[in-house]
Amino acid sequence: MDAREDIGPEDTGLESIFRRLIGATGPISVAHYMAEANAHYYNRADPLGSAGDFITAPEISQMFGEMIGLWLADQWQRAGKPALCHYVEFGPGRGTLASDALRVAERFGLRPAVHLIEGSSRLRQAQQTLIPQATWHDGLDSVPREGPLLIVANEFLDALPVRQIVRAEQGWRERVVLHNGERFLPVAGARPMDTAVSAALADSPVGTILETCPAASGMAYEIAVRLKAQSGTALFIDYGYSTPQTGSTLQAVRAHQKVDPFADPGLADLTALVDFAQLKQIALAGDVDCLGPVGQGDWLMALGIGERAATLARTQPSQAQALMDALDRLVSPDQMGALFKVLAYRGPGWPQGEGFAG
Ligand code: SAH
Repeated sequence: MDAREDIGPEDTGLESIFRRLIGATGPISVAHYMAEANAHYYNRADPLGSAGDFITAPEISQMFGEMIGLWLADQWQRAGKPALCHYVEFGPGRGTLASDALRVAERFGLRPAVHLIEGSSRLRQAQQTLIPQATWHDGLDSVPREGPLLIVANEFLDALPVRQIVRAEQGWRERVVLHNGERFLPVAGARPMDTAVSAALADSPVGTILETCPAASGMAYEIAVRLKAQSGTALFIDYGYSTPQTGSTLQAVRAHQKVDPFADPGLADLTALVDFAQLKQIALAGDVDCLGPVGQGDWLMALGIGERAATLARTQPSQAQALMDALDRLVSPDQMGALFKVLAYRGPGWPQGEGFAG
């Protein structure tokens, strides 16, 4: 069948590109599938907010970004207010977090140079209207190598492509994606991958999936190396787990509903849980201090988000209920408070970050 027959009004063209590629060279890895699907997805439209596919903490309430601005400003003050420093945000979405955080930081005298690392040209445009003073980058490499770095990444690492290895009858194989004429399907690939699996897991039952995120690990290590050289801090906030686990955590969300990750590539947001145990290991390898992970709810409450909500509610009584609802979404353990975790890296000579005690 001619793949072009499938192109509907919403088609990103990716389905036919994948089908041609798979037809010509064989199945593609889950990592390749996820990377291309998300690159198309984030360039296609603004996915955030109630009219989009999903909503993130900074889009729920300004209080989230404000707490991050406060957290950074507090450390900057205790670090002796270095004149030259850089706010660096990975995957800033609409720029809401940066705009809320920088507004609060400025009240404390912190006015860093602003660097936004964003892959989507569409979202770069949205960020430009909120943060016109920013400089945009494809990665950390072009960010200045002098002056402490204040790095923030909220729901960024979960969008990076995961690699999956599956235990088949014959041994371990990379999990790959083929097209069976009707749909994309994840299957065990042909090439042996037994040497990629640790001895402790080698004899796992058939069907076991091991997931890693080389892109996230590589980026976290690059961040650690830069903090070691320049000092400063990095704050990672994401949906994830802190003890190693097996199984696929790949999921797709479209219009606030979970959908099949292998249906309609490029039209749904693909994410995987972040491995916080791995982020801790990387801090060790990069020789920077690691704080956390702690639950997002505990962290925000320790920083005073409860008091901030009460203050805002007093000054805008008509918004009081909406503010309390937003607070609840951000901090309650049955909402984002426990599933979302906060972890920080701390470079040499940089003060301890609030909210990570105990
Ligand atoms: N941090 C924002 C947006 C989260 S969505 C918020 O909390 O609202 C993920 C963000 O990461 C988007 O801005 C997306 O375009 C960006 N992104 C995803 N993969 C990327 C990559 N490989 N390189 C750069 N940016 C990427």
